[in-house]
This record gives sequence, C-alpha cells and structure tokens, in this order.
Amino acid sequence: MQPKIYPVDEHKIAPDKIDTHAFYVIQKLRQAGHKAYLVGGGVRDLLLGACPKDFDVSTSAKPEEIKALFRNAILIGRRFRLAHIRFGKKVIEVSTFRSGATEEAGLIVRDNEWGSEEQDVLRRDFTINGLFYDPESQKVIDYVDGYPDLEKKILRTIGKPDIRFTQDPVRMIRLIKFCARFNFEIHHPTFEALLSCKGEILKSSQARIFEELLRMLESGSSKAFFHLLNEYGLLKALSQPMAVYLDRPNNVSLQLLSAIDDEVRKNVPLDRSFLLAALIFPLFQENVMERSKRETLHLGQIAEMAHRTIDQVFHPFFNIPRRMRGIMGFIMTAQFRLVPLDGKVRKPRPPRDPFFPHALHLLKLRASIDPTLLPHYTLWTEASFDAHELAELPPKRRRRKRRRRRGNEEPV
Ligand code: ATP
Ligand code: MG
Repeated sequence: MQPKIYPVDEHKIAPDKIDTHAFYVIQKLRQAGHKAYLVGGGVRDLLLGACPKDFDVSTSAKPEEIKALFRNAILIGRRFRLAHIRFGKKVIEVSTFRSGATEEAGLIVRDNEWGSEEQDVLRRDFTINGLFYDPESQKVIDYVDGYPDLEKKILRTIGKPDIRFTQDPVRMIRLIKFCARFNFEIHHPTFEALLSCKGEILKSSQARIFEELLRMLESGSSKAFFHLLNEYGLLKALSQPMAVYLDRPNNVSLQLLSAIDDEVRKNVPLDRSFLLAALIFPLFQENVMERSKRETLHLGQIAEMAHRTIDQVFHPFFNIPRRMRGIMGFIMTAQFRLVPLDGKVRKPRPPRDPFFPHALHLLKLRASIDPTLLPHYTLWTEASFDAHELAELPPKRRRRKRRRRRGNEEPV
C-alpha cells in the first residue's frame, strides 16, 4: 500500500522541536544503509504542537546491527529485543520494524516477528499513534489515515476495534488515556467496541494496567481519566469499591485528583505511593468515620483499617508492591494524627518518619477542598518547620528540647 505523504508545508512540525539525539540516531542508521523514522507518540505530540516526552525511532536495522553502530546502545527485552541508546539521562528507544496485526481475535500471547515499515504501523494501537516522520526530508508518512484523524481530533483503532481490543485489552485503557489527555472524540465503532469488550480487561497483565494507571496519576489529566474509566465501566471491573465511590456526586477523590492535576502542571514532583494514597483516602476516611460512630479508635486500629482498605480496593486484580503499600498505609493513617477524629487540637509533634512530608502534603490538598482543615495544616506545617530547625541544632541542645514521643495507643 502506498502511504500518504505530507510535505513540510502541509504540517506544523517545527524542525527545531526534534530532539538532536534522535535526529543523530536516525542519520547514523541511514548512513549505514537502513531505513529509520521517528514514530508513535513523539510524532503525534509534535503534530499537536506539544513537546514530546520521549522520542521513539523505528528502523529496518536488526538489534545486533543497532548495537554494532552505537557504542552507547544496550539491548533490552528477552525475545523481542529493543535498543536503548543512552545520551546522559536521555534514552532514545530504537525498535526494529515488526509485524503483528492479525485478523485473529483473542489475546496475543506469542511474540510477533520482524516486518516491513508498513506492517510496523499496522500493528500499532490508534491511527494518531501510527505516523512516521522523516526528519531529513521533513515529511510525515501516513499508512493509516492518522493525519486527518489528528486534525479532526478523532481516536480510532488501526484495524477492527473489537479484534484489536481483545488481542491486547490494555489498548482500552490507552484509549481512555488519550481521550482524557487530548479531549478527542472516540470514533463510533471504536467506542462501541470499548463498551462490548470492557470485560476483557481482566485478561490483561495487571502490571501493565497498574503502570498505565500510575502514569495517568502523574499526567495532569488524572481527574478526566478516572472519571471516564468509571463512566465507561472499566473501573468497575478493576476495582468495584472505587467504582462505587466515584459514582457518588461530588465525591472527594475526583476533587483531590483535580488538585493533583494542578500541581502536576506546575511540575511539583509527586511520589507514586502518595498519588495512590490520595486516590483512595476519601473512601478510607468514610470507613473510618463510620466505624468511629460505634467505637473509639486509636491509631493502631486505623493503620490496620488502612491496610485492609488498600487490599479491598486493589485486590484481587492488582498486586501492590509491599513498600508502596507500607507508604500508602502510613500516609492514610497519618491523616488521623494530623486531624484527630475527636476534633481536639493538641500540640503537634511531627514524627521523624521520612514519609511524614507526604502525609502533610495530602492534608494540604484536602484543606484546599475543605477550608476547615486549614488551621490543622498551618499548625502542623509550623511545628514541622520548628522540628526541622531543632534537628539542625547540635545534639546536646537537641536532647534537652526534645520531648518523649507519643505511642500509637492513644485514642484520636
Ligand atoms: P505517551 O505519550 O503516554 O508515552 P505513547 O503513545 O507514546 O503515549 P508509549 O507507551 O510510549 O505510548 O508507546 C509508544 C508507541 O507504541 C505508541 O504511540 C503506539 O504506536 C505503540 N504502542 C504502545 N502500546 C501499544 C499497544 N498496546 N498496542 C499497539 N501499539 C502500542
Ligand atoms: Mg511515548
């Protein structure tokens, strides 16, 4: 099939936006007689006038040939190898053209094979992600009608959507991610297939879905993403308790995600455990409030409840790493130390836990939604500042000033 070619005067890619290392990699591959293009999300973002976060190169060169050309290349992946070419902290991912788009329905379990440049785009997920860019001639090469879809702001699978979703259900999560991020419309047959295939999501790898969810929490569009994930019925399959909670009008989770999106857009660095803790804290808080009506709770019991809530929300599908689970539990429990259930304001004694600043940060976000929490946040921030100053003092003076730490047994 002949691709459509869009020359330099028909698209908006400014040559100075192309990463110089990606350009160098492409040139060097070509000088060695191979084909090489920029491909995927990088081309899409350049055409949208955005700054791509990574540049991927697709080439006819085989992994060993890439490795032989670049001293700074390492091959990754066991059966299907890619080259990572490192320039300081930056990595340019170079993959060999491969095939993989079949008409067969059902989960793809085997690896696909080397292919032509056309096959390499046909195996990709959405038309907007299936464009090549040749930085030398400055042409966009389009085998899949991705360019007009980008212009019309349409999300459409490459190939039949139901087959593409059952082959790799993670594509449904990716569809919602692009919908949330770009606010594009979903092409009707693709949308129908999303609704009919949503149950397939449980057949995919939990690790890949978990990674996509974390990336979305870090994306600056997390509110729209989780809202759509729930609206289109996928969240229910992945986490029933979270779906039930997000169905409530004015639920606090979506408000917290909106506050997080604002911070991400201001480049505030946010820890992944913190983001997950923020997502589920409002649901957890409701459980704690409910139980506290019947009995007096102390922090140890609240910590147990936090771990149980993490399990309920994420099991059986997700497997949260132990360390992450520990930090989430700490951040969620600490909220009841920062704002005790009995409402009494006690003299704050900031713990020296390294994750305490995350707990305080969550309180800050909660206070941006509920101003009655603001005095608590101010009090604890000032106390942490004092504690920090105290820690800087020489040990002798510090000992005199420090008071005995409170245990976990005190009612809150
Ligand atoms: P982001 O901006 O979030 O990185 P992206 O589209 O670049 O989005 P990547 O995970 O970096 O996503 O993938 C790079 C490219 O690989 C995609 O643009 C797409 O062409 C292809 N791709 C990624 N995941 C899939 C998939 N599940 N099925 C088919 N093609 C995929
Ligand atoms: Mg990418």
